[in-house]
Amino acid sequence: DFHSFAEQTKRSAEQYTKARELIPGGVTANIKYMEPHPIIMRRAEGSKLYDIDHNEYMDYLLSYGALIHGHGHPEVYEAVMKQMKSSGTTIFGTPHELEMVMAEKLISLYPGIEMVRYTNSGLEATLLALRTARAYTGKPKIAKFEGHYHGGYDQVLLSVNPEHEKSGDAAQPNSVPESHGLPEYYQKNTIMLPFNDFPSTEKILRTCKEDISAIIMEPVQGGFIPAEKEFIKQLRTLTEELGIVLILDEVKTGFRLSLGGAQEVYGIEPDITALGKVLGGGFPIGAIGGKKEIMNLLSPHGGRDIMTVGEEDSQKREAVFHSGTYNGHPTVLAAGLSTIELLERDGVIGELFSKTHALRDRLEELYGQYGIPMQTIGKGSIFNIILSKASIKNYRDMEQADLGLRKAIDYELLKNGVYTKPLNRYSLSTAHTEEDISRTIRAHEQAIKTVLKQ
Ligand code: PMP
Repeated sequence: DFHSFAEQTKRSAEQYTKARELIPGGVTANIKYMEPHPIIMRRAEGSKLYDIDHNEYMDYLLSYGALIHGHGHPEVYEAVMKQMKSSGTTIFGTPHELEMVMAEKLISLYPGIEMVRYTNSGLEATLLALRTARAYTGKPKIAKFEGHYHGGYDQVLLSVNPEHEKSGDAAQPNSVPESHGLPEYYQKNTIMLPFNDFPSTEKILRTCKEDISAIIMEPVQGGFIPAEKEFIKQLRTLTEELGIVLILDEVKTGFRLSLGGAQEVYGIEPDITALGKVLGGGFPIGAIGGKKEIMNLLSPHGGRDIMTVGEEDSQKREAVFHSGTYNGHPTVLAAGLSTIELLERDGVIGELFSKTHALRDRLEELYGQYGIPMQTIGKGSIFNIILSKASIKNYRDMEQADLGLRKAIDYELLKNGVYTKPLNRYSLSTAHTEEDISRTIRAHEQAIKTVLKQ
């Protein structure tokens, strides 16, 4: 029943009718769509979003986790303005010093990073990581985990959210395309692995080791299903043994689980790390970092020492192509550096985590009071609400959850001023206050009461 939602968001509905004529589906990313129409925003401040009908929402989407300090943090704004004013430009189009300042920062924070290259999105970062790994190993295929998302391109847009009847045996999942228009080639050359199931993963990898150049994984699937510590450690050891490059996709976990990402928390060193989101402070960015031996393949001379080019070279590796008009964008790097500096201040991350845990604890207590089987799962400042008590270790376990009830509650929450895209996870920011959390709990209680009456 969308009736009262439609009442509250009349202008959004009107504008959406126009948007559908101009933009396919009226949205600039498919994930931005929701029934019966998306809510069109007009303004934001701190932890709040304001729509064109003048409704206020507490924002738990935070641009899919990117805005770790909330909307319009004054110091991030200041850093951006200062960069543009003092340099006299938005972008040089040439090398500049901030590229090195950020690289030094990433190298000092991330155990697996010795050198850095920038892209303009998380998608481009994982794509570049996979290409570099193929060049490094000379092997043609890659492997990924069922349910993991690394960007919407042909090679990895497989089994992110596969239809039940197509996904096959849990111990040896099929590679299921998530879009029309994907060439069959990628189904054959992207091997699918079961997350948090080491014996089955090992079996597949040992069978295909001659062909697999790299494994790419989210250390915390979707930001809320953590890899088991043993699983990620065993995977690191096995990939070293089999000569497979381990790519850790930290686009979501980077700067969120800790300043040094999931790799710092888990105590592992991936061969290549992909970053994005928080790194750009709300502007578009991605980056890869890794071991020098691998990263140097990206140099214009393909791993040969730049200063000795022309001399006889024993490696004779060709360069891995990487380009982009906006790579290493100075305005974006200024926003990112300021965002990281804010996170480095004493107690900032700890406070963000304790706020998140307070919210999770109070939500669990509340749902318990109403007799709704519920748990929150996640790590750091991102979590999800699962309406089931079953243990959730991978994508398939999510089938246990009551999505219908969750969705009904999420629409009530939207009416009560809490913005989560229905069924989405919760991301928190340093701008969220104790008062926001109390209001969120009250909104949930109201939503539960209404839904239970229906
Ligand atoms: N990897 C992960 C783990 C992500 O969560 C995302 C974005 N949700 C991406 C890659 C792609 O990043 P972008 O949207 O910046 O292309």
